[in-house]
Amino acid sequence: MVIEFPLPTAAYQARLAQRQASALPEIWALLEQVCDPEIPVLSLWDLGVLNDIEQTDERLLVTITPTYSGCPAMQTMRDDIEAVLRQSGIAAFEVRESLSPAWSSDWISPEGRSKLTAYGIAAPRACTACRGQPLDAEIQCPRCGSTETRMTSEFGSTACKALFQCQACLEPFDYFKPI
Ligand SMILES: [Zn+2]
Repeated sequence: MVIEFPLPTAAYQARLAQRQASALPEIWALLEQVCDPEIPVLSLWDLGVLNDIEQTDERLLVTITPTYSGCPAMQTMRDDIEAVLRQSGIAAFEVRESLSPAWSSDWISPEGRSKLTAYGIAAPRACTACRGQPLDAEIQCPRCGSTETRMTSEFGSTACKALFQCQACLEPFDYFKPI
């Protein structure tokens, strides 16, 4: 069975347009090597945490958006960004957290969704498709693609994931909740 991915969301396309209009493509590429400490196959760009990069008169300004307020991985992400900038000889920088607009799982890149699935985590459905539907509606097993899956716990390995089990191949898996 084929694992289906939603088309690039409007929210992701807006992020991509902002990146492509940036005067600092080399810094975007540099920071693309920084990965999510909880899901190491996913870069902060893929995840949507890496939000904006600007050069002011005094310093490089990197804006990151937490996936949710109080996410315990945020400090590690910030430290990793700072380490990569320092290793590249950039001394004058500021990493700023932005909470508005709030992060949405729709910010995850199409590549990020496919990497999540390959890693064994079911990618979040697009928010427009899941609005008003129960959390466990038609979630595809990341291993065999079956939609015969059921939620076994609303909380998986971390608060942003729910635990599912596939009825076809019997594998338990995490589902990255759409928010
Ligand atoms: Zn399965």
